[in-house]
Amino acid sequence: MVDLTAESAEVLATLIRHNTVNPPGNERAAIEYLDAYLTAAGFRTVQLAAEPERPNLVATLAAEGDAGGPVLGLLSHVDTVLANPEEWRRDPWSGEIDEHGYLWGRGALDMKSQTAAEVVAAATLAREGWRPARGALRVIVVSDEETGGEIGARWICENHPDAVRCDYLLNEGAGATFELGGRRRYGVCCGEKGIFRFLLTARGRAGHASLPRNGENALLKLAPVLTRLGAAQPSYRLTEPPRELLAALTGLDAAQIDETTAAAAVAALTHEHPDLPALLEPMLGVTLAPTMAHASDKINVIPSRATLKVDCRVPPGLGEEAALAALHEVLGDSADLVEISFTEQVYGYLSPVHSPLMETIERWLAAEDPEASTVPVLLPGYSDSSWFRRAFPDLIAYGFFPHRHMPITEVAPLVHSADERIDVRDLTYATRFFIAAARDLLG
Ligand SMILES: [Zn+2]
Repeated sequence: MVDLTAESAEVLATLIRHNTVNPPGNERAAIEYLDAYLTAAGFRTVQLAAEPERPNLVATLAAEGDAGGPVLGLLSHVDTVLANPEEWRRDPWSGEIDEHGYLWGRGALDMKSQTAAEVVAAATLAREGWRPARGALRVIVVSDEETGGEIGARWICENHPDAVRCDYLLNEGAGATFELGGRRRYGVCCGEKGIFRFLLTARGRAGHASLPRNGENALLKLAPVLTRLGAAQPSYRLTEPPRELLAALTGLDAAQIDETTAAAAVAALTHEHPDLPALLEPMLGVTLAPTMAHASDKINVIPSRATLKVDCRVPPGLGEEAALAALHEVLGDSADLVEISFTEQVYGYLSPVHSPLMETIERWLAAEDPEASTVPVLLPGYSDSSWFRRAFPDLIAYGFFPHRHMPITEVAPLVHSADERIDVRDLTYATRFFIAAARDLLG
């Protein structure tokens, strides 16, 4: 019997010691290490690269013969965001384990831990002589997620779709627990929101700032716009995952969850857990956040033009129309003060909440943590799953890395922050999940 804890900790520490801060990424050494590791276990591997120093790895273990059957993909990225060692209590590239059993380093949560769990699970199965009874197990490790996947997931899906085609996909996005109604809940991420960004432009007439009434100050026209954006978010626009999430939280049937019951549920939740609505509410509709403003280039010139950039996130299945409707709802009359144009439009994608892959997760959880249950969630931000969902419309993709010991309130603040670390027991727990998932889905 292999020691899964020692092996997954060793693989994670090795990955952390490869500095893959993106930019520049430099993922090649980490990818080559994983290639050798999976090849030795019996996987057929291929590296596909848009840039030689930044390859992507695809490793496949297929059933004997060509019997068809589903392909289960285990996806992860090996690049990380930067880390400033001065802000850390330990070296961000040490991979050391402290006296409390935490393994430290940039990527310990996002997401070298999942890479380690997925490859150790895959290698363990292959070395034991396990082969899929049908279909294939495919480990996909990409570069370049943290800046959008241009030469990672996006590139590989657009340029080598046959190499990475999957029917089911497990990636990052959820899996840390939260307690509700006395019950532990594991989030399973069923989709990512879309990004529809606006540029709002107010126009006026330039003049000398020493004579304020002499021009028409475009900047002042942004004031009511900003006030409105600060005062309220648009009404909820519910999609399937949050409907089911609220049903699980309230005990109501998903069909009974509408905008009114959702508002009541959020109000009740705020009472019970003041921190949770900030994480939950973005899943329930379009969000608007003004982030950048610009007016005059000179302090003594009244601006004839002032601009405001608004970051807008839209639930999967909705697009431009929903974004515009949300903006007009919030701005009201003040919309007349500005010209509205989109600067970016990226659609979100969604997998069904009920699927064979969800049943696999639920069966495993029923055995491992019978008191707990899964709840579907939406990722307010982006992940590589978006590119896979776009390339393969029938794909069922979930974000799931189960944490048994670190709750979401401990995990979330450490992602992209100083002192990122993982409880080694959670690493083993997740490794065992990926082993069980492959066996359950592929036989
Ligand atoms: Zn990530």
